Amino acid sequence: MTDYMTHKLADLRARQEAEEHMSCPRCGADTMKHPVHTNAMSRVADIFICDACGTTEALLAHMNQQTPLTNWAAFKPTGLPSDFKARLARDVLEEVVRNQTETLTRIFRLCQDDPKNAAEYRLEAFESCPGLTELWTEPFAAKYQALDGSAVVRLTMSGDGHPLLEAGLADK
Ligand SMILES: [Zn+2]
Repeated sequence: MTDYMTHKLADLRARQEAEEHMSCPRCGADTMKHPVHTNAMSRVADIFICDACGTTEALLAHMNQQTPLTNWAAFKPTGLPSDFKARLARDVLEEVVRNQTETLTRIFRLCQDDPKNAAEYRLEAFESCPGLTELWTEPFAAKYQALDGSAVVRLTMSGDGHPLLEAGLADK
Protein backbone atom coordinates (compact mmCIF):
# COMPACT_ATOMS: atom_id res chain seq x y z
CA MET A 1 0.00 0.00 0.00
CA THR A 2 1.23 3.49 -0.82
CA ASP A 3 1.86 6.30 1.73
CA TYR A 4 -1.02 8.15 0.11
CA MET A 5 -3.51 5.34 0.78
CA THR A 6 -2.13 4.66 4.27
CA HIS A 7 -2.73 8.32 5.13
CA LYS A 8 -6.25 8.29 3.62
CA LEU A 9 -7.18 5.16 5.59
CA ALA A 10 -5.83 6.57 8.87
CA ASP A 11 -7.89 9.72 8.33
CA LEU A 12 -11.05 7.71 7.61
CA ARG A 13 -10.48 5.48 10.65
CA ALA A 14 -10.02 8.51 12.93
CA ARG A 15 -13.28 10.00 11.65
CA GLN A 16 -15.11 6.73 12.32
CA GLU A 17 -13.63 6.53 15.84
CA ALA A 18 -14.92 10.07 16.43
CA GLU A 19 -18.43 8.83 15.39
CA GLU A 20 -18.59 11.32 12.54
CA HIS A 21 -21.72 10.78 10.47
CA MET A 22 -20.57 9.65 7.03
CA SER A 23 -21.84 7.73 4.05
CA CYS A 24 -20.62 4.15 3.67
CA PRO A 25 -16.95 4.37 2.63
CA ARG A 26 -17.36 1.41 0.27
CA CYS A 27 -20.64 2.11 -1.58
CA GLY A 28 -21.18 5.79 -0.76
CA ALA A 29 -24.82 5.32 0.35
CA ASP A 30 -26.19 6.93 3.50
CA THR A 31 -26.58 3.54 5.18
CA MET A 32 -24.22 3.65 8.17
CA LYS A 33 -25.67 3.00 11.63
CA HIS A 34 -24.73 4.61 14.91
CA PRO A 35 -22.69 3.82 16.86
CA VAL A 36 -20.22 3.03 14.12
CA HIS A 37 -19.04 -0.32 15.58
CA THR A 38 -22.54 -1.81 14.99
CA ASN A 39 -21.79 -1.78 11.23
CA ALA A 40 -19.79 -4.45 9.40
CA MET A 41 -15.97 -4.52 9.52
CA SER A 42 -14.51 -4.62 6.01
CA ARG A 43 -12.37 -7.57 4.94
CA VAL A 44 -10.23 -5.26 2.80
CA ALA A 45 -9.19 -2.71 5.44
CA ASP A 46 -9.74 -2.01 9.13
CA ILE A 47 -12.72 0.22 8.36
CA PHE A 48 -16.46 -0.06 9.08
CA ILE A 49 -18.79 -0.39 6.10
CA CYS A 50 -22.57 -0.74 5.83
CA ASP A 51 -24.30 -4.10 6.40
CA ALA A 52 -25.16 -4.51 2.70
CA CYS A 53 -21.50 -4.03 1.78
CA GLY A 54 -20.49 -6.44 4.55
CA THR A 55 -22.76 -9.08 2.97
CA THR A 56 -21.37 -8.34 -0.49
CA GLU A 57 -17.79 -8.69 0.77
CA ALA A 58 -18.66 -12.03 2.39
CA LEU A 59 -20.06 -13.29 -0.93
CA LEU A 60 -17.04 -12.00 -2.85
CA ALA A 61 -14.75 -13.71 -0.35
CA HIS A 62 -16.33 -17.05 -1.30
CA MET A 63 -15.23 -16.38 -4.87
CA ASN A 64 -11.78 -15.23 -3.75
CA GLN A 65 -12.52 -11.73 -4.94
CA GLN A 66 -12.76 -8.30 -3.32
CA THR A 67 -13.41 -4.75 -4.49
CA PRO A 68 -10.08 -2.93 -4.13
CA LEU A 69 -9.97 0.21 -1.98
CA THR A 70 -9.21 2.27 -5.07
CA ASN A 71 -12.79 1.51 -6.25
CA TRP A 72 -14.43 2.53 -2.97
CA ALA A 73 -16.65 5.62 -2.94
CA ALA A 74 -14.56 7.20 -0.16
CA PHE A 75 -11.45 7.19 -2.36
CA LYS A 76 -13.02 8.47 -5.53
CA PRO A 77 -10.79 11.40 -6.51
CA THR A 78 -12.41 14.82 -6.21
CA GLY A 79 -9.69 16.58 -8.21
CA LEU A 80 -8.31 20.07 -7.72
CA PRO A 81 -10.05 23.23 -8.90
CA SER A 82 -8.84 24.71 -12.18
CA ASP A 83 -10.08 27.02 -14.93
CA PHE A 84 -8.90 24.75 -17.76
CA LYS A 85 -12.41 24.05 -19.08
CA ALA A 86 -12.78 27.78 -19.84
CA ARG A 87 -9.43 28.04 -21.64
CA LEU A 88 -8.02 27.04 -25.01
CA ALA A 89 -6.42 23.62 -25.14
CA ARG A 90 -3.09 24.94 -26.43
CA ASP A 91 -2.81 27.31 -23.43
CA VAL A 92 -3.74 24.49 -21.07
CA LEU A 93 -1.11 22.25 -22.65
CA GLU A 94 1.56 24.94 -22.22
CA GLU A 95 0.66 25.44 -18.56
CA VAL A 96 0.53 21.70 -17.82
CA VAL A 97 3.94 21.13 -19.40
CA ARG A 98 5.39 24.11 -17.49
CA ASN A 99 3.86 23.39 -14.07
CA GLN A 100 3.03 19.70 -13.89
CA THR A 101 5.83 17.89 -15.74
CA GLU A 102 7.69 17.28 -12.48
CA THR A 103 4.64 15.82 -10.71
CA LEU A 104 3.54 13.73 -13.69
CA THR A 105 7.07 12.35 -14.08
CA ARG A 106 7.16 11.46 -10.38
CA ILE A 107 3.82 9.60 -10.61
CA PHE A 108 4.94 7.92 -13.85
CA ARG A 109 8.16 6.66 -12.21
CA LEU A 110 6.20 5.34 -9.20
CA CYS A 111 3.83 3.44 -11.51
CA GLN A 112 6.80 1.97 -13.38
CA ASP A 113 8.70 0.95 -10.22
CA ASP A 114 5.67 -0.32 -8.29
CA PRO A 115 3.03 -1.33 -10.87
CA LYS A 116 0.88 -3.31 -8.42
CA ASN A 117 0.02 -0.03 -6.66
CA ALA A 118 -0.56 1.92 -9.89
CA ALA A 119 -4.27 2.41 -9.08
CA GLU A 120 -3.31 4.19 -5.83
CA TYR A 121 -0.73 6.41 -7.55
CA ARG A 122 -3.41 7.23 -10.10
CA LEU A 123 -5.71 8.55 -7.33
CA GLU A 124 -2.79 10.53 -5.89
CA ALA A 125 -2.30 12.20 -9.29
CA PHE A 126 -5.82 13.64 -9.20
CA GLU A 127 -5.02 15.33 -5.89
CA SER A 128 -1.66 16.65 -7.17
CA CYS A 129 -2.50 17.83 -10.70
CA PRO A 130 -5.09 20.64 -11.03
CA GLY A 131 -7.42 20.21 -14.02
CA LEU A 132 -6.55 16.54 -14.62
CA THR A 133 -9.65 14.83 -16.05
CA GLU A 134 -8.38 11.37 -17.01
CA LEU A 135 -5.28 9.35 -16.26
CA TRP A 136 -4.14 6.04 -17.70
CA THR A 137 -1.13 4.36 -16.16
CA GLU A 138 -0.24 1.71 -18.75
CA PRO A 139 0.73 3.26 -21.10
CA PHE A 140 0.95 6.46 -19.08
CA ALA A 141 -1.22 9.34 -20.38
CA ALA A 142 -2.77 12.36 -18.63
CA LYS A 143 -5.69 14.22 -20.17
CA TYR A 144 -6.91 17.75 -19.36
CA GLN A 145 -10.27 18.88 -20.67
CA ALA A 146 -10.19 22.41 -22.10
CA LEU A 147 -12.72 24.69 -23.84
CA ASP A 148 -12.05 23.61 -27.42
CA GLY A 149 -10.60 20.13 -26.95
CA SER A 150 -8.12 18.62 -24.56
CA ALA A 151 -4.43 18.59 -23.75
CA VAL A 152 -2.74 15.20 -23.48
CA VAL A 153 0.65 14.42 -21.96
CA ARG A 154 2.18 10.99 -22.49
CA LEU A 155 5.20 9.57 -20.73
CA THR A 156 7.25 6.58 -21.79
CA MET A 157 10.61 5.21 -20.66
CA SER A 158 13.50 5.43 -23.11
CA GLY A 159 15.78 2.47 -23.69
CA ASP A 160 18.36 3.93 -21.27
CA GLY A 161 15.79 4.55 -18.52
CA HIS A 162 14.92 8.24 -18.98
CA PRO A 163 11.31 9.40 -19.04
CA LEU A 164 10.27 10.81 -22.41
CA LEU A 165 7.44 13.33 -22.48
CA GLU A 166 5.18 13.80 -25.48
CA ALA A 167 2.58 16.57 -25.35
CA GLY A 168 -0.25 17.10 -27.81
CA LEU A 169 -3.84 18.20 -28.40
CA ALA A 170 -6.92 16.03 -28.89
CA ASP A 171 -10.33 16.90 -30.33
CA LYS A 172 -12.31 16.28 -27.17
ZN1 LIG B 1 -22.03 0.24 1.72
